[in-house]
Amino acid sequence: METFFIDVIVPLSVPYKYTYRVPAALNNDLKIGKRVIVQFGKSKLYTGIIYKIHNQAPAYYEAKYIEAVLDEEAVVLEQQLLFWDWLAFYYCANPGDVLNAALPSGLKLSSQSTIQINPSFNLEEMDYHYLTQKEHQIVEALSVSPNLSFDDVSKVLSIKSVQPIVASLIKKTVIQIFEEVKEKYKPKMVHYLQLNPAYVSEEAIKGLLDKFGTKSFKQAEALLAFLAIVKARKGSNAEWILKSDVVAKCGNAGVVALIKKEILNEQALEEGRLVFAKGNKVIANLSGLQSQALTEIKTGFDENKPVVLNGVTGSGKTEIYIHLINEQIANGSQVLYLIPEIALTTQLIARLRAVFGEQVGVYHSKFSENERVEIWNNVLQFGSGRNKTDYKIILGARSSLFLPFSKLGLILVDEEHDNSFKQYDPSPRYHGRDAALYLATQHKANVLLGSATPSLETMYQIKNNRYIEVKLSAQHVEGGGTEVVVCDTNYYEKSQQMKACLTMPLFNAIESALSAKKQVILFQNRRGYAPYTECKDCGHVPQCVSCDVSLIYHKQSNKLTCHYCGYTTVPPTVCSACGRNNLVYKGLGTEKIEEDIALLFPEVSIARMDLDSTRSKYAYKQLLDDFESGKTSILIGTQMVTKGLDFKNVSVVGILNADSALNFPDFRSFEKAFQLFIQVRGRAGRGSEKGQVFIQTNQPKHEVIKYVLNNELELFYEKILEQRREFFYPPFSRLIEISIQSKDINELNHLSDLLAQYLKTEFKQHVLGPEFPMIKKIKNNYIKRILLKVNRNDSVFKTREFLHDKVNELKSNFKNWNYRVSINVDPV
Ligand code: ADP
Ligand code: ZN
Repeated sequence: METFFIDVIVPLSVPYKYTYRVPAALNNDLKIGKRVIVQFGKSKLYTGIIYKIHNQAPAYYEAKYIEAVLDEEAVVLEQQLLFWDWLAFYYCANPGDVLNAALPSGLKLSSQSTIQINPSFNLEEMDYHYLTQKEHQIVEALSVSPNLSFDDVSKVLSIKSVQPIVASLIKKTVIQIFEEVKEKYKPKMVHYLQLNPAYVSEEAIKGLLDKFGTKSFKQAEALLAFLAIVKARKGSNAEWILKSDVVAKCGNAGVVALIKKEILNEQALEEGRLVFAKGNKVIANLSGLQSQALTEIKTGFDENKPVVLNGVTGSGKTEIYIHLINEQIANGSQVLYLIPEIALTTQLIARLRAVFGEQVGVYHSKFSENERVEIWNNVLQFGSGRNKTDYKIILGARSSLFLPFSKLGLILVDEEHDNSFKQYDPSPRYHGRDAALYLATQHKANVLLGSATPSLETMYQIKNNRYIEVKLSAQHVEGGGTEVVVCDTNYYEKSQQMKACLTMPLFNAIESALSAKKQVILFQNRRGYAPYTECKDCGHVPQCVSCDVSLIYHKQSNKLTCHYCGYTTVPPTVCSACGRNNLVYKGLGTEKIEEDIALLFPEVSIARMDLDSTRSKYAYKQLLDDFESGKTSILIGTQMVTKGLDFKNVSVVGILNADSALNFPDFRSFEKAFQLFIQVRGRAGRGSEKGQVFIQTNQPKHEVIKYVLNNELELFYEKILEQRREFFYPPFSRLIEISIQSKDINELNHLSDLLAQYLKTEFKQHVLGPEFPMIKKIKNNYIKRILLKVNRNDSVFKTREFLHDKVNELKSNFKNWNYRVSINVDPV
């Protein structure tokens, strides 16, 4: 018997892959990418992934045996493991960090997992032979007590390693990993009717009507009512239409009879979510300019270079994507459509499903773990014939890069400039766009970056002929567009022409927009009610107990909350410093704005979209549906409302405080502020009428605002690029940020100075810091940062190696000190 060893990636933040020994009985079960149960540390069991199979015993430790192999087939593909390797290497992350980011938790059975019966599984209808005897025992135990821990299962079966049986039951969709039902929102169901496809021809219809004659008058009436509605919509006889529309015309009786006779089909669906087996919306014909752009994009693909679609907001980028997706699907390829934020999925799903129906899969963190596992498996089985419907298009946030694609033909990165593509914490701190570019090379897939305001990094690549730029400079709908109005808040405050948080021009514009039945979007990048509380007598500001920030007042919950650690307390009635009761709330959060606007426009329906109001899965959808249908007239929100939204009826958009964006202490702040203003501007004037965007600022002459006013995008980019070149910032250099955290400020100072010294031996003047960041203490840890500016031509490998060496040197010199070093490559 041959002795096998396997290298395993364990789901822990440890620096290596570990070698385990394989019991001979499991020799035939080995395959790279399968899950195994291994012991790590004293007694804990974990789900790991087989990375490599070989015969080499480890040199420095005695290999433990693996406990079990979970899968009959690999759940992670070899190509994915190479992608994980690259990601871990480039972003200085541990293999286990990447595994944790990549694999849905539902695929990671740990000793702490609890199981329950899968709600969609029907015990009564099950074929007895479907389950093994042990599996039956578990199902029976679950019918007595609805959820069991692995320990419980272990007792029921009196065996130690229960994971393989649990894994098999999950695979058979009999059970699932326990998840608490957190959803409160129940989507509203709406009923739709369709003519049975057997009766859609004119002949068949005539036949039916003849048969009904005068005897079944009600049914004839119902059928005619149905057909009249279809005809009025210029639709086909096979279309799904609202049941309530038909009933309104002819009453219920005839409709019920037709459904019973299966002449009409009925389905109940979530409101606004009509899903066709195959999307039935015809793909829009592209305009001349759009077709030309499409041709240029394809020419670019032929050169095997990433293509950038630099198209103004509303120019029809999404329509072009739809054409590209369609071609890929026809080729039998998969498409990955990446967006920076979940808020954007709602409108896009509707647009994509209308055309591509059930072939569109959605993947992001608002989905439950069990749903994520289902999508993972669907993608894994792409093309095998085992899925009811293959997801050919995955729409998702950055984590969808990790899905097990086998035939990826195209990656679309929409709003590529958006910082939300970057993961901050935990490690791996990867950039969704950049990782997408790598993934595309790996799959030899095309990649298209889209934006109305491309990032400087991308512009620089275009300049250097590494990417191909395709421009789309006209808005699709004629007559739209937006006028920019800058409002000097100093002036309006001094002359007492403010209405709460609104300068007079903005207030007036909202008033006339509302009376013309138009809609308004207001942007403020602060959630909560008041960013800080201040004692009027002594100036004291309540701070978080463990972070160096003021507590934010949330009126709805009547709490003071820290946005960094979540610490929450009841608002004090007296000042904790001087004891008097003169506390006032200062600054403007979205909650406060909502309140002000409600007082100013009492008749109007208002909604707020921020992190607090969108915690549940359906919250975005409901907020956006209500805005789309005109149920709400004013939408107030944080950066979520600035991106990608496409509402034709919005005529006024307001940036309530542009200064916070302009004054942000970061070398990118001008670029980011500029992109923000242009994106916000793009939310108005998307219909056939001109819109207006109001920028409230106390720096009306600021150069960024000047460029926005004059619509000088290219000049702005040139100017900023020049500054970056001068100071050797990206895209001319690459940045690596090293943070050190410690509870002991003296130790922190010492360690960070020392590390900076080490690094200076190689990077010389390109080591900046150590410095305290803007917030110098979070969760009782003080933080210092060192910034490395690395030459773009330097070897990525050497840089990483040197950095690792120096960090390890520090660690081995200060073994007993308690601190943490984290590395952020390409911080944004
Ligand atoms: P972008 O993605 O560049 O912001 P969209 O694709 O959202 O632009 O287009 C803006 C609006 O114009 C959308 O409502 C879209 O449906 C419409 N539109 C764009 N191109 C076409 C076209 N060729 N035919 C019909 N409608 C179009
Ligand atoms: Zn805190």
